[in-house]
Amino acid sequence: MKVYLIKTPECESKTIQSVSDFLTSFDGPLEFSFSDTVFDIKQFPFLVYDEINWPYYKEDEFDIDDLNLILRKMRLDKENVQSSEKVFFKDLYSICDLYREKFNVEADSFVVLLTKYNNEFNYFSSFDSNKNVFVNVNHWDFYTPNTDAKYPIAYQIVENILRSLMNIEFDPEAFMQFFQEKEAEIHSQEELDIVLTSYNQYAHYLPKVCMNDFCSFKKQVINKLQSGNICPICLAKIYEENIDSKLMLQVVSIFNGIRSEFMFKLSGQTFFQFSQNKTLPPYPLIVEKNNKIFIKTKTELIEIRLNPLCKMLYLFLLKNETGIRVKDLISHKDEFTQLYLKIRPGRELDKAGKSIDDLVNQKGDSSFNSHRSIINKRIEELLNNSGLADNYTINGDRGEAYSIKIPRDLVDYRF
Ligand SMILES: [Zn+2]
Repeated sequence: MKVYLIKTPECESKTIQSVSDFLTSFDGPLEFSFSDTVFDIKQFPFLVYDEINWPYYKEDEFDIDDLNLILRKMRLDKENVQSSEKVFFKDLYSICDLYREKFNVEADSFVVLLTKYNNEFNYFSSFDSNKNVFVNVNHWDFYTPNTDAKYPIAYQIVENILRSLMNIEFDPEAFMQFFQEKEAEIHSQEELDIVLTSYNQYAHYLPKVCMNDFCSFKKQVINKLQSGNICPICLAKIYEENIDSKLMLQVVSIFNGIRSEFMFKLSGQTFFQFSQNKTLPPYPLIVEKNNKIFIKTKTELIEIRLNPLCKMLYLFLLKNETGIRVKDLISHKDEFTQLYLKIRPGRELDKAGKSIDDLVNQKGDSSFNSHRSIINKRIEELLNNSGLADNYTINGDRGEAYSIKIPRDLVDYRF
């Protein structure tokens, strides 16, 4: 069974090639191949990729126990259907169909489109009834930090192929409609699970540690990748559909291969590689719900106390691992304002606005460096000017991006 991997123009060929190389290293009936076809963009007017103006695919942190928040999030996802800034599923599948037509692809082969475009329901991936699949390749560094993106992308490809072979019918639009009709009956997460499962028992809202976990909170996707598991309900369906056992063995090997990349990882290495290097890992950083920031040493919690503006800047840089150049601060003004109001909800907007204006000022007298030196001094004092401070301070060269070094798998957000 052939699987053609294709891409939209903004995806880097080398990323897709590495996904293809990984998948082809497993023997079995699924034969993966990468086609670097460049589409005539005029045929697809929706393919106007502009990273700056496209909303982030990333989602905010959610309190996973807050039912009202979850229901609101589901409603928001539904409203996204109307958004003109996202590509519709049907548009993505139309590219797969064009590829089929142009290259006479056999009807039983899969065509998998890899893309950076955001899609209408904010899904990682999906498939249609004609063996077309799309997978979003963007922002895996956010959902699965410190692991090469080729692994979660490869997982999504195989997951959708298997779901298609299982004959799972899942129409997101009908699913949203169904949710809307039943929403009034939902008073707990368990009821939400019952309602969603009654629509489709192969999309598990409450996680079953299974390939078919719905991952309503997108960060939960890591559980699938780490477990590589398929639950008994779904295995029974695979058995019922008589899916080739050689193909299943291939899937199990691929899932095991991916799984091992997510196990015992610390700062991008396996724990065992890490411990052989004999370097002391930095202490973890904890960000509490009330925005308090702590360094957790072996014996104590040390709070990094900062004024609201410094705290805003620090939290921003923690979230933006690659850092930021001073001249680019201006394009994040709204984000700063939102963050500031979260830290100081009572503060009048005009006062906050003035401080933020000073920070993002592009005329060469931005207050960035004075805030940076306050933050760094504070951290160096707290850690007694030991070499450890370097992991937490804001560093960079003039004109280049300033960033915080601490590996993000050591940052624990408690909200
Ligand atoms: Zn399952």
